[in-house]
Amino acid sequence: METVTRQLSERENKALAIATHTQLIRNPNNTWIVPSQSGAKTYTVNPDPESPNCTCPDFENRRARCKHVLAVEIVLKREIITVGNTQTVTETLTVKQKYTQEWPAYNKAQTHEKAHFIEFLHQLCSGIGEPIQTNGRPRLPLADIIFAAAYKTYTMVSARRFTSDLRDALAKGYISKLPSYNSIFDYFQMESVTPYLRQLITQSALPLQSIEEDFAVDSSGFSTTNYVRWFDVKYGNNEDWHDWIKMHLICGVKTHVVASVEISRATKHDSPYFKPLVEQAVKAGFNMKEISADKGYISMKNLQAAVDNGAMPYIAFKSNTQPDRGSDLWSKMFHFYNFKREEFMAHYHKRSNVESVFQMIKSKFGEKLRSKNETAQINEALTKVLCHNLCVVIQSMYELNVTPEFWSEAA
Ligand SMILES: [Zn+2]
Repeated sequence: METVTRQLSERENKALAIATHTQLIRNPNNTWIVPSQSGAKTYTVNPDPESPNCTCPDFENRRARCKHVLAVEIVLKREIITVGNTQTVTETLTVKQKYTQEWPAYNKAQTHEKAHFIEFLHQLCSGIGEPIQTNGRPRLPLADIIFAAAYKTYTMVSARRFTSDLRDALAKGYISKLPSYNSIFDYFQMESVTPYLRQLITQSALPLQSIEEDFAVDSSGFSTTNYVRWFDVKYGNNEDWHDWIKMHLICGVKTHVVASVEISRATKHDSPYFKPLVEQAVKAGFNMKEISADKGYISMKNLQAAVDNGAMPYIAFKSNTQPDRGSDLWSKMFHFYNFKREEFMAHYHKRSNVESVFQMIKSKFGEKLRSKNETAQINEALTKVLCHNLCVVIQSMYELNVTPEFWSEAA
């Protein structure tokens, strides 16, 4: 991820003022109603990344991003990309998303989210088999364990309050037994739980399969409660740091649904995860038209993996990259990146959506992992992704009229 800081232009400052101090209303067709800076008028903005437009005089005259388009982009937390003569300036402005509370579909989704969440989680968990062999342990159905763990992640409440939530769930038939708080954690130390969580993540994403065609790949760290002794070579300090693990994922840029996910140790490089993420998502049933990723993912293997799976790779090149490496695909993409930068960027900027996904997961379900054991940490992290996907699916019911169906034959 590259962040370059520069002075905001006058137009950008005005956009920031509009985004911060006024209410932008999103229409169901994804256009936005944006007040003029005086507040006397409103304009309609279509923030379509490929050709944004606005009904204001400034846009009519210049046919270029006006302050209203920029304001919507700020609200959408999109990367603002300015293509100059020599370099590309990328920055992400973060503004509180106040607008969302006024938006009826969003509101409705939020109001009904918990009820849908429990229902969908139950449907998903009901679809998994019961293969876990437990030697001498009091056996609990795996469906109950995963339901309880994901529900716990979703509610983020104290253990005591959670036990009463679980009792409700039992009374309503969402689980067959009441697992003790500790037994959930015992099960989460088992590696055999991991493939089931992964399967549920895929299943939870599939209702959005027909909506998503553009994808983005990135990674982000989740800190654990374990400490590692860290010797800082540069400064010669010995310090204790929270250890962390890395989540790699590929998401759809429209809904932010996670199509596949990998968890690794913090020290692992990102690039080798590109291909398995793409392949798993395609195998699950997603069709990809384009995939964007930052320069950390640039390699012949990754470009080829995208093309082999039917997608155009929008992966940034490093400044020291050789134009010719004996591959037509490499040369083609290198020239596209370097000599048709504006066109490249029109696709590449969709990548910022994968950063939004990590922000969504961390702000809603926490960026810390509480489990002590590494397997449990992986399972806990996957549970966050499952919860995220279910929330995205619920949002899409209201915004995009998706009717979620899990474990359907078509998928
Ligand atoms: Zn305008």
